[in-house]
Amino acid sequence: MNAVSILWPMIAGACLVLAAVQLLVRLHDKNAQANLWLALLSLAITGIAAAELALMLAGSTEDFATATRWIHVPIFITFVAIVRFVTRCFGTARGWLGWTVIGVRAFALVLNFAVGLNLNHDAILRLRPIRFLGSTVMTADAVFSQRTRIAEVSTLLLLAFVVDASLRLWRKGEADARRQAVVIGGSVTAFVVIGFAQGVLIHSGVVAMPYLISLPFLVVVAAMSYELSRDLLRSARNAEELREVAESMHLAAGAAGLAFWRWEIPQDRIWVNPQGRALYGVPANTPITFERYLTSLHSEDRERVRRGIEGALTGNGELRTDYRVKDSAGMEHWVEARGKVDFNGGGKPLRMRGVSIDVTERHHMQERFRLSVDASPNGVVLANAAGLILLTNRRADEMLGYAPGELLGQPVGNLLPERHRCEHAAPREGLHRMPESRTMEAGHELHALRKDGSEFPVEIGISPVESPEGTLVLSVIVDISARREAEEEARRHRDELAHVTRVTTLSELSGSLAHELNQPLAIILANAQAAQRLMAQSPPDLAEVKDILTDIVDEDRRAGEVIQRLRALLKRGETKMLPVSFNEIATEVLHLTHADLIGRGVTVSRELSPELPLVAGDRVQLQQVLLNLVLNAADAMAGNPVGFRQIQVVTSLEGDVARLSVRDAGCGLPEDVERLFEPFFTTKQHGLGMGLAICRSIVAAHGGRLRAQPHSECGAVFHLEIPVCPQQAAWS
Ligand code: ADP
Repeated sequence: MNAVSILWPMIAGACLVLAAVQLLVRLHDKNAQANLWLALLSLAITGIAAAELALMLAGSTEDFATATRWIHVPIFITFVAIVRFVTRCFGTARGWLGWTVIGVRAFALVLNFAVGLNLNHDAILRLRPIRFLGSTVMTADAVFSQRTRIAEVSTLLLLAFVVDASLRLWRKGEADARRQAVVIGGSVTAFVVIGFAQGVLIHSGVVAMPYLISLPFLVVVAAMSYELSRDLLRSARNAEELREVAESMHLAAGAAGLAFWRWEIPQDRIWVNPQGRALYGVPANTPITFERYLTSLHSEDRERVRRGIEGALTGNGELRTDYRVKDSAGMEHWVEARGKVDFNGGGKPLRMRGVSIDVTERHHMQERFRLSVDASPNGVVLANAAGLILLTNRRADEMLGYAPGELLGQPVGNLLPERHRCEHAAPREGLHRMPESRTMEAGHELHALRKDGSEFPVEIGISPVESPEGTLVLSVIVDISARREAEEEARRHRDELAHVTRVTTLSELSGSLAHELNQPLAIILANAQAAQRLMAQSPPDLAEVKDILTDIVDEDRRAGEVIQRLRALLKRGETKMLPVSFNEIATEVLHLTHADLIGRGVTVSRELSPELPLVAGDRVQLQQVLLNLVLNAADAMAGNPVGFRQIQVVTSLEGDVARLSVRDAGCGLPEDVERLFEPFFTTKQHGLGMGLAICRSIVAAHGGRLRAQPHSECGAVFHLEIPVCPQQAAWS
């Protein structure tokens, strides 16, 4: 045994082990192409080592020539492996240069087998033993062929290829890239140069030594292995981290009841974690296909989910759906699933990955919320910040004339007539800025718009609702048609009653009114008779007749006015709110009651404020109130001695309220003044007890008030107060 026969088999053995290791790595990881090339390189070096050993131990020139010929096979493989390894590992190599290297070397290989003894020798003259590493090995005295130049060119090209790729990698500037450039690029370059130099020296006869390619290339292989094992270590570390992440995900999934799933679409195979199997009620070893998955869904949800998934596969690849499933224990769950589709380059769906989560609790909450909203007797509409409807309850759909769900996504403004829309937008915008509940005030009656275009009166309460989607607006719509109708009905009844009591009151005045009418009629009659007589004279006294006719016209007008006032009061009319003057009302009522009051020995003094603004009111109804107050005052003083029966009528302005007061010196008021205003309260023998009750309701309908108070000296004073019209200027 000598050093050569120990060392070379060792080189071959080491390379074989390396090749085996790299092949194993490649077998486990389809992407480990660099490891494959390194395995090939190691195998080639094994071959070179074997051929070198054969050369050194050659027994004849023929053996030497044959071994030289065959050594070119592993050398060619070495070239290919280095080019492919550098290309794969660096990612910066020039492809064409790599293929040129392989092409030239392949040409050399062809020549090696096709021409002469081999690539290097034209003839081998004799074997020459030399001492090498303490052993006797063979070299040859030979005629070297010019074909060797081709081998040298290919080696130089390989050098250029590796140096170029290394420089380009170095220029990337990253620390890892630079290290690779130095370790792999540097070692390959150094040992190719050494091999090249050695070959040139041997071929030119400068030195007589055996070929030593395998030894330096063992270092190259070691450098390459070192680099790849770093990657291997890194991926092992990554794998460990990944395992930890997966474990945490697994724990989190268990805690949150999350189901992870993956659907390999071309194979129609679905993988799902154990939580998912439990949730979908699929036993552990049952394979899951798409159809099997669909059967685990509630039958009513299947078609919808199928459409959703098909939509994701043909559309943007996003899936978001919910459905019911029965778990392994047969309990129904609501599940929300979200997934994403991976497409290949041609847009064909490869797999869909996603998670499913048990949202039963949330669903029940939503259901309870929906039920309670649906049970509301009022309409409920929830809109987002953009004013689009997100939810309506059954009552809202009914009152607005829409089918359930039809309003979703529509602008909330569509529920209001055109004229209210900006009024609605304003409070809604305000709500987003300053979240607090409020009632929509349109300044007049608010109406909602039905689908068929008809309108109905409503009251709308608006509240902000904070949600993950931002501030939402909850509108509660109350249909007040029934209330409006009831109010209208009440108003009609009040008018009716007011009319009846007016007629009753006037009937009390009928005697004095007849007298009031008799007077002008008697005067008219007397004047007419006088005129007849004057006309019968010859010649007739026409000047006197003219005076008489003027008197007749005046008296007729006076009687006409009395009748007109009576007719107005007796008329059954609708309430008409117009600007009226308290002073005019006082004057008219005092005219009407003039004769009656004189008959009762009552005197009237009036203090009418000349600057009194107008009030909005129904002239006839306000006259009725005053008439009632004046007649009550006269009644209250019936027991007073004549000369102590005086009524004072005063109008005044108190702030922005017009006041009409009637004061008497009568019997005074009971302690509980409010009783006077109760219906049917009367102290009079033939009284109805409805007068003041009706008067108060009339005044309340005018937005004012009617109150009584005892006078400081004697008797009572009644105040009729109504706010003055805000738009005085427009009316005056
Ligand atoms: P009626 O005149 O038919 O009794 P009213 O409602 O007009 O009905 O009046 C109710 C009662 O209020 C009267 O019966 C009377 O007792 C009392 N009353 C009304 N006005 C006066 C007044 N000026 N002074 C004292 N009592 C009054």
